[in-house]
Amino acid sequence: MLTKYKRIILKISGEALSGKNSYGIDFDTVSLIADQIKEVKEMGVEIGMVVGGGNIWRGREGIGMDRTTADHMGMLATVINSLALQDALEHRGVETRVQTAIEMRQIAEPYIRRRAIRHLEKGRVVIFAAGTGNPFFSTDTTASLRAAEIDADVILLAKKVDGVYDKDPLKHEDAIKFDELSYLDVLNKGLKVMDSTATSLCMDNKIPIIVFDLTVPGNIKNILMNKKIGTVVKE
Ligand code: UDP
Repeated sequence: MLTKYKRIILKISGEALSGKNSYGIDFDTVSLIADQIKEVKEMGVEIGMVVGGGNIWRGREGIGMDRTTADHMGMLATVINSLALQDALEHRGVETRVQTAIEMRQIAEPYIRRRAIRHLEKGRVVIFAAGTGNPFFSTDTTASLRAAEIDADVILLAKKVDGVYDKDPLKHEDAIKFDELSYLDVLNKGLKVMDSTATSLCMDNKIPIIVFDLTVPGNIKNILMNKKIGTVVKE
């Protein structure tokens, strides 16, 4: 099947995995996500994934803690989420590899760029876990970095809302949704798309970002079929 993008990075926040709950992993939600990924995998798209950890732990929540330690805990949280997704995908017959930015060889492969690309070419979904391996960064930055490294065509940024708004649509009825934005719009207006480090990395490497609602089944497929979904951030 001819799709608009051949190689994608799908970024899923930890929050998206908690479903209706505010904490932890909701396995019904993980199942729904895995179903969507299987569907697009069957379209022949090469899929790299980056999963957040906010449903378990965020470094900035460790008030009074050493920030580096708190961030190490955050990166470990992303590994827990990545393994949950890997399991759900493998149960559906989707071949996967988890690669971690911090070595834990008994659990997953270490991140090796060339090997990751080879997996993608062989049709395996590669889940990039443990963030960038460095404290003071985010998994959004991880998504931008891996997208640049593996030469992905786009980053699909999964959220619980259907795009980027000028203000929080859950709090303001008159919030306006943007169909398209430039990287500079995002940076200058301080819009909550990605953090500024992640946005700058995408801008410098001309990687488009599509913000979309993951809770609507078929959305990833429709984006790949070039339907207008969510908000596109590009030059
Ligand atoms: N983290 C980090 N370095 C990275 C990526 C993540 O230190 O390269 C830590 C950081 O503490 C962060 C946590 O891992 O708060 C979870 O990631 P993130 O907050 O990006 O997850 P999300 O908000 O997408 O669920």
